[in-house]
Amino acid sequence: MKFGGTSVGSIDRIRNVARRALAAQKAGNDVVLIVSAMSGETNRLLSLANQVTAVPHAREMDVIAATGEQVSAALTALAVQHEGGKARSLLGHQVRILTDAAFSKARIRSIDATAIRETLAKGEIAVVAGFQGVDDGGNITTLGRGGSDTSAVAVAAALGANVCEIYTDVDGVYTTDPNVCPTARKIDRISFEEMLELASLGAKVLQIRSVEIAMKYNVPIHVRTSFSDAPGTMVTGEEGLEAVTVAGVAYDKAEARVHLVGVEDKPGVSAFLFEKIAEQNISVDMIIQNVSRSDANRTDVTFTMPKTDLERSRPIIEEIAASAGAQEVRYDEDVAKVSIVGLGMRTHAGVASKMFRLLANEGINIQAISTSEIKISCLVASKYTELAVRTLHEGFGLSQAPVKA
Ligand code: ASP
Ligand code: MG
Repeated sequence: MKFGGTSVGSIDRIRNVARRALAAQKAGNDVVLIVSAMSGETNRLLSLANQVTAVPHAREMDVIAATGEQVSAALTALAVQHEGGKARSLLGHQVRILTDAAFSKARIRSIDATAIRETLAKGEIAVVAGFQGVDDGGNITTLGRGGSDTSAVAVAAALGANVCEIYTDVDGVYTTDPNVCPTARKIDRISFEEMLELASLGAKVLQIRSVEIAMKYNVPIHVRTSFSDAPGTMVTGEEGLEAVTVAGVAYDKAEARVHLVGVEDKPGVSAFLFEKIAEQNISVDMIIQNVSRSDANRTDVTFTMPKTDLERSRPIIEEIAASAGAQEVRYDEDVAKVSIVGLGMRTHAGVASKMFRLLANEGINIQAISTSEIKISCLVASKYTELAVRTLHEGFGLSQAPVKA
């Protein structure tokens, strides 16, 4: 059972966590809790370090950031004891959650489940501090923002748990952002693959890496609210008999479009362009290359990249573009990527054309398209984001409960 920052955001809420854990134990389960820092705490800790020095050393940042979870774990263990139960807190290095040495974005290498098993064998609830681990050299590491989800799924995998319950402040995974689309519905079941696509597209309910681990080790995740007993969303490896065509609609306003006009059209130009761009650590998302123009041997290349990187990258992009013979570079920050995700796309024809028709009916122009086996994304002017999301949500029948096969 993993509880996020808002679920442990106050002493009252921590008591609620303790009661839930005890109820689960009473129902016959061995219970491992994974806790995040109290809400706002990680930001507060990181800002303390930033007040001391503009570029804090990564190793010390992790020592500081990891304390948020240390406090939550001990408070939660105390709360269980106060309710008359037995509990013990375990920090990353005590469990032994071994990670690589990439401070602030460490990856888990292995988990030794012995200490947790011994705790459970004594009838105690193990309360594991999320987000943190230890590297080979004994240094404290953290797993990146939102990393407690990954801690939870990895511990669940190491223990062979029946389920990893992720308790949060929303009641599950939604068909789209309810703030944008009032008819958004909670999804009862979704596959790992669909969840992975939705998380990559910006659905923030689970850290992407937690879904990757869940898929690899086949750990079912139950995303649910800590404020009621209502069931949330099951994320599993099972596919329904008849996979829904579209499970969710996502949008992302964080990317900008870069248009290189009239680059040379000959072998090796794209390789050159994107090698140079990768060297600058710019992560490119959509890429479109036009067919050759009949005039001269030139073509246009368009790609999208994070808006936040655009300012620093402009001079470099222009230099790279010039070396590839580009006549002009144009930028557009007023774009948004709107995507539909669903396993059923694998077997249903006409999903893409339906998406394009729905957008066309609203007079929305498509600037770029990219697809994967279970996802179609369209780049549109950002002013149309909300309209596009609502239109697709309605058009693909997500506003009503899916018809069960
Ligand atoms: N406390 C960490 C964060 O705020 C990890 C987590 O909550 O999952 O990112
Ligand atoms: Mg989170």
